[in-house]
Amino acid sequence: MWRQNDLFTESLYYQISAMENLQEKDLLWITDRIYMYYVQEPYTGEVKWSNRLKTSGANIRYDIKTGHGLIQVNRQYAEKFGKLELLEILKHELAHYYLYKQGKLKHGHGEVFKKTLRKIFHSECIWAKRNEDVYRYTYVCRKCKSVYKSTKNIKRVIYCGRCAKENKGQIKEAFRMDQKKREGDKKIPSEKGYKKGDVK
Ligand SMILES: [Zn+2]
Ligand SMILES: [Zn+2]
Repeated sequence: MWRQNDLFTESLYYQISAMENLQEKDLLWITDRIYMYYVQEPYTGEVKWSNRLKTSGANIRYDIKTGHGLIQVNRQYAEKFGKLELLEILKHELAHYYLYKQGKLKHGHGEVFKKTLRKIFHSECIWAKRNEDVYRYTYVCRKCKSVYKSTKNIKRVIYCGRCAKENKGQIKEAFRMDQKKREGDKKIPSEKGYKKGDVK
């Protein structure tokens, strides 16, 4: 939620909430409006939709020579969490942009970044929301039943870190994590109950 005093975000949100099917030129316009309001300078560069980002809401690349930014916005994320969240993730990337422009090229998400985001952009959007939809693969420990979720289908055998830690770092077969079948997956018929030569 926007802070009570940030009427700018509120009015921009109402303006864009009526816009259907945001195009990249719309994203650029929104980004420029935000930067103009908080920094009183235009944003130079591009803003693009991305279908490749998974866990992050957006990211930015900065060209030192031209001073241009390239912001990529996770389309699925923006569609899922809505336009108010879109404004927040743009503020986040613009805080990076602001620091890059000051020559602070390796600021990460440390104190300088947090302060910039809060003081200049009036935002608390330090981390993206967790989008459960992208954690499609679930693994369960055979022993303690703890659950690990992954965005990727892990082909190699993985073991439970918690159980290994309790066992002085030693790995046992009993700590293996098995992939839980996803809903809607094709059911693989169990071999149990069928003898050789049985015809299904
Ligand atoms: Zn960031
Ligand atoms: Zn375990």
